[in-house]
Amino acid sequence: MTEIAYTDALLVVDVQNDFCMGGSLAVPDADLVIRPINSMLLAFSHLVFSRDWHPADHCSFSDTPEYRDGSWPSHCVQYSPGAEFPHDLRVPVDALIVDKGTLLDKEAYSIFEDTGLADILRKRGILRVFVAGLALDYCVKATALDAVREGFSVVLVEDATLAVVPEQSDAVLNELHSTGVISVRSDSIS
Ligand SMILES: [Zn+2]
Repeated sequence: MTEIAYTDALLVVDVQNDFCMGGSLAVPDADLVIRPINSMLLAFSHLVFSRDWHPADHCSFSDTPEYRDGSWPSHCVQYSPGAEFPHDLRVPVDALIVDKGTLLDKEAYSIFEDTGLADILRKRGILRVFVAGLALDYCVKATALDAVREGFSVVLVEDATLAVVPEQSDAVLNELHSTGVISVRSDSIS
């Protein structure tokens, strides 16, 4: 079992309608992450939910997206229904909401990028972060790597994240583990 301390935070990355079933940039089986995420919320005193939060003509959008080169279909446009949290995801009122990718001409996969999050977490005394959400091979990976760089201990909740390109999952997990990230399952958290 993994016991949660007051110095732990849960980072829920980009669980938004456009990345879920029926969304414009759906991650295969994305809705499966919602239940394990909901199940962990009560264990943590510090909760962070990020949103991909793009202007309508964001630089990553393409009418002919190629995905792997970083061009994507339009997704998570600020204030649009696709950018909202799915209604069955529980977002406690005291959770910190972090918006990223808000600048027209700049992509941001990590939720630490231009958000000030590392300092916010340090001021709260956070030493270890648990990372979950979408998608494992892009924003979750970038967030976990940045968290390592920022000096946090990093735990990936393996059953609470999925890749947009599932074939990339194993390589991503290997890369993360090589930097010291460890994996746990949501049902081992108490
Ligand atoms: Zn995006």
